[in-house]
Amino acid sequence: MLTKDSIRKLPKIDLHRHLDGDVKPHVLFELAEKNKMNPINVPADSPETLDHYFWKLRQEGVVALLQKGFGLVTALLQTEENLYRVAFEEVRNLAEDGIIYAEVRFAPQYHTGESVYYGHAKRNRLSYQDIIAAVSNGLRDGEKVFSVKTGLIVCIGREAETEKGVAIARCLDEKVVAIDLACDEASYPPERHISAYAETFTTKIKRTVHAGEFGNQPYHNIVTSINELKADRLGHAIPLAKYPELVDVVSSGRIGIEMCPKSNKYCGFIQSYEDLQIPQLMSHGVLISINSDDPAMFGYTLTDTLYELVNEGYLTMEEAVATQRNAAESAFLSEHEKAKLISKVTMP
Ligand SMILES: [Zn+2]
Repeated sequence: MLTKDSIRKLPKIDLHRHLDGDVKPHVLFELAEKNKMNPINVPADSPETLDHYFWKLRQEGVVALLQKGFGLVTALLQTEENLYRVAFEEVRNLAEDGIIYAEVRFAPQYHTGESVYYGHAKRNRLSYQDIIAAVSNGLRDGEKVFSVKTGLIVCIGREAETEKGVAIARCLDEKVVAIDLACDEASYPPERHISAYAETFTTKIKRTVHAGEFGNQPYHNIVTSINELKADRLGHAIPLAKYPELVDVVSSGRIGIEMCPKSNKYCGFIQSYEDLQIPQLMSHGVLISINSDDPAMFGYTLTDTLYELVNEGYLTMEEAVATQRNAAESAFLSEHEKAKLISKVTMP
């Protein structure tokens, strides 16, 4: 019988998960207290009331959550110490949800110490290398404690000037598995960052792109991401099934599709999970993975997502397990590591 617990026990893989979208309120409250944030700026006097504050923001809608919720998280993630801590806590979150491998992503440009930092004088600017190292160290130490494997993806917030994107791409080293383009797809199409992606063409760094999540030119953005940015995977690609020629391209090119169904629904980008045509795409050989995007911020887990898809009849349990194998196959790991991961994905 299908229960949420049986889905939680299924060894799962999450390839599309934003660090700043997965900070639990009690961790945030602790950081705020430690950093003496003014109570006017932290609208809560306990972890419980902060939890309730986020719940209320979620009811208000995605705009409130983006501005106030992410605003609060970002304001606190301006030191290496805090970045390390949330990265470490992220691995705890993964373990609690039965996730055995995850690729966690974040955009260093939002964490340079220059953002508004309440209760402190202006800090020195952190380098992208220091910021990436702090998050990487948190993940590595978390791996040892919670027995979960992780990879780190560095995003360019796509509103960044082309030169800034290139500067970020030049900071990627062995701590990082891939580059990504995130945030406002409607205003900043992917061609703005071709030169940043070109920095990775002759390196071991892989490439994923948020493409076809929102905005009025999903087809163009998906095609540009594949042809010009040489994407190994795509984030979202919501309308993919509408374009049979693109289905053939991603299927034959083994370009993994990181779908984030609950995020898409919460943000209003789809009306129903039916819109994503997941089983149909899988039957055409597309490597569809199911991912969480911003779990703590939007108020759900990967387990909740898979449970909902199966319980409401959008996926069979066998298809849900197959999405985990697809995730393993499209993970940014060596062939040997992928095979090891696939062997661990078995029905609970
Ligand atoms: Zn995302």
